[in-house]
Amino acid sequence: MEPEDGLALAVDVGGTTIKAELVDPRGRVVASERRPTPHGERARDAVAEVGRTLLGQRPGTVVVGAGVVVPGLVDREAGIATYSTNIGWRDLELVRALGAEWRLPVRIANDVASGGVAELRIGAGVGTRNLVFVPVGTGIAASIVSGGHLLTGQHGETAEIGHLAVRNGVPCACGRDGCLEAIASAAAIARRYTALSGKHVTGAHEVAARLDVDAVAQQVWQDAVEALAEAFGVLALVLAPSLVVIGGGLSRAGELLLDPLRVALARRTTLVPPPDVSVSALGERAGVIGASLLARDGWAAES
Ligand SMILES: [Zn+2]
Repeated sequence: MEPEDGLALAVDVGGTTIKAELVDPRGRVVASERRPTPHGERARDAVAEVGRTLLGQRPGTVVVGAGVVVPGLVDREAGIATYSTNIGWRDLELVRALGAEWRLPVRIANDVASGGVAELRIGAGVGTRNLVFVPVGTGIAASIVSGGHLLTGQHGETAEIGHLAVRNGVPCACGRDGCLEAIASAAAIARRYTALSGKHVTGAHEVAARLDVDAVAQQVWQDAVEALAEAFGVLALVLAPSLVVIGGGLSRAGELLLDPLRVALARRTTLVPPPDVSVSALGERAGVIGASLLARDGWAAES
């Protein structure tokens, strides 16, 4: 058996859940485990444990390497998770510790970047080389692929488009006013609906379910659509991507989101062609699928 025929260990460390999979070369999941994500540096122990458990289920099987994707800032070269407000770590050494634990080559990367690479290679972005992947959940972020290359900042940053200012009068948790994610994140849609209607909802999907009959739901939804279109209009001017792929919880709204968004975006992109807009093809598994690709080739094609 050639080494490339072996399995890859893929781990996606989310704010609430660690997803881990053993994946064969054709992308089939042969074993998987989930754990709650502990706060702070204890998260590393949980990642080590879940990997150990999966590897222990397949003794004697060739595993070619591991890919671990995490939120926040990542120094891929040094193998360090630099900073996550969400999980609460700083300068967490991951690659060496996990490599010693699992006796495998380990690579790490940011989780939003991971979703973008996965959508590009085997998801909604197949056939394009210029896309922006935008997970919309409790917050909003973006990973940008231009000319087939993943774009990151000087410290490995993905694009914090959730804090683009798109309108006035809506305070954001970051301290500024009018940020995209204060209006259009799935959490903000639910929160704004409850504030304006007095009716409690558990998530944006409940607001979407009321669009036919509820004027407040329509207003909150349209506010979110206009805010997303405003931000995507900026992306179109700066980057001219061919495609914006919406991921995260809000992507489950499908055409309820995409139809009005295409209309609103076309109104704002008079100088450049509007990018097409789609929802994630890989859903909540985009991050862990990107991690399996990272394990196999380090995203060589996108570097
Ligand atoms: Zn903000």
